[in-house]
Amino acid sequence: MIQIEVETTSQTGFVDITGNVQRAVRESGIKDGVCFVYVPHTTAAMTINENADPNVQQDLLMAINKLIPFRDNYSHIEGNSAAHIKSSLVGPTISVLVEGGRLLLGTWQGIFFCEFDGPRNRRVWVKILPS
Ligand code: ZN
Repeated sequence: MIQIEVETTSQTGFVDITGNVQRAVRESGIKDGVCFVYVPHTTAAMTINENADPNVQQDLLMAINKLIPFRDNYSHIEGNSAAHIKSSLVGPTISVLVEGGRLLLGTWQGIFFCEFDGPRNRRVWVKILPS
């Protein structure tokens, strides 16, 4: 298992970690298989989406924050229920095929860490299974 450190700078936001994950694949020495990327946090998530136009991430964030308001009639005493809900809806893991030592992503795809209760120091776990 390889750990990636992610330092987030805002309450909600996306961090492109494609380069970090690709580096983990290279360092593993595995040429073909599946790469799993997992977030061990209850108020963060992983997703794959466009990394060409940063406005796409802005729009995603705007829509998610609109869908799940920060303040509502939540019961959770810690006061961050919106972040827990966003984390579950987006999901804690992604998997990407690996071929020839490279992540098999589409032309416009990037791997994003999703912060929903920052800023915080976070971690992401990566495991590459050979085929
Ligand atoms: Zn909480």
